[in-house]
Amino acid sequence: MTVLVPTSLDEALSALAADEHALVLAGGTDAMVEVNAGHRKPSLVVAVNRVAELRSWTFDPAARAVRIGAAVTYSELMQAPIADLVPALAQAARTVGSPQIRNAGTLGGNLGTCSPAGDGLPVLSALDATVHLASASGERLLTVHDFMVGVKRTARRPGELITAITLPVLSGFQGYSKVGVRNAMVIALATACVAVDTPTASVRVALGSVGTTILRCPEAESMAISEVDFGSRSASAEVVRHFGELAAAHSRPIDDHRATAAYRRHAIGVLASRLLRRAFPNEQ
Ligand SMILES: Cc1cc2nc3c(=O)[nH]c(=O)nc-3n(C[C@H](O)[C@H](O)[C@H](O)COP(=O)(O)OP(=O)(O)OC[C@H]3O[C@@H](n4cnc5c(N)ncnc54)[C@H](O)[C@@H]3O)c2cc1C
Repeated sequence: MTVLVPTSLDEALSALAADEHALVLAGGTDAMVEVNAGHRKPSLVVAVNRVAELRSWTFDPAARAVRIGAAVTYSELMQAPIADLVPALAQAARTVGSPQIRNAGTLGGNLGTCSPAGDGLPVLSALDATVHLASASGERLLTVHDFMVGVKRTARRPGELITAITLPVLSGFQGYSKVGVRNAMVIALATACVAVDTPTASVRVALGSVGTTILRCPEAESMAISEVDFGSRSASAEVVRHFGELAAAHSRPIDDHRATAAYRRHAIGVLASRLLRRAFPNEQ
C-alpha cells in the first residue's frame, strides 16, 4: 500500500480527494489493528500525525472555548493547561490503554472509530462538543451528537478529515468514571461523565458502553437541575440516589462475553450517583 505523510492540511485534503477510500491514520492504535487483522485493505494510507494544524490546540478566553486538533494525543490531553480547562477530558484520557497507547492515540481517532466504549466520547457528549470536518470542497461543523451515528458509525463523509473538536470551558465540577474488569488496558463495561455549569445552572450526564452510541440522560439532568442547590453545592441523598436510578433506566446495555446487561445497568447507577455526589458534596 502507498503511505503518504503530509505535513499540511491542504496536502492531506488533496490526498483524500484523490482517493476517497484512503485510510486516514492518526496514532494507528485502532486502524492498524484493523489492517493487521485483514479487516481493512486500503491501497492508500494518509497519515495525519505530522500535520501541524491537527497537532495543536488553542483556548479562546473570550468565547470560553477550547479547540483541540484532531491529532492531539491522550498524553497531551492529560496535562495542564488542557487538564485545567476540561478536567473530565483529562480524567478520561488517563484511563486510556497504556502509556504507549496514550502517546500515540488521539481524540480524533477515538471519534473516527466511534466505539460506544471510546473513553473520550462521553466527555465530548456531556460538553456538547462541536466536531470540525474538512474536505477539499470545504468545511462543516457538526454537533458531536449528530456526528456519532451508531456502533463504529459516524456522519463523516468520504474524503473528509476530522480537523478539530471544540469544547466549552464550563465553570463547575466535571468528572469521568469507568468500570472495567481491571484497572488498566481494558475496554470499558460502563462509563459516565457528569459536567456541571454553575452560572447557567446546568447538569449534564453522558453514558458510554451501554448503547449503540453515547447516551445523554435528559430525565436525570432535568431532575438534578430542579433539585440540587448550585450555590451551596448540595444535594439530598434521595436526589443522588434517584439520579443514578434515572441514568440506569436510560441505559440500553447488552449481555456479552464481558458483562451482563444487568451488571452494566447497575454500574451506571453507581457511577452516576457517585459523580453527582462529587459535584454536590454537601448533603441537604
Ligand atoms: C492496547 C489498546 C488499548 C486501548 N485502550 C483504549 C481505552 O482504554 N480507551 C479507548 O477509548 N480506546 C482504547 N483503545 C483504542 C484506541 O487507542 C483509541 O480509540 C484511540 O483514540 C484511537 O486513536 P488513533 O489516533 O490511534 O486512531 P487511528 O487508529 O489512527 O484511527 C482510528 C479511526 O479513526 C479514523 N481517523 C483517525 N483520525 C482521523 C481524522 N483526523 N479524521 C478522520 N478520520 C480519522 C481512522 O481512519 C480510523 O478509522 C485501545 C487500543 C489498543 C490497541
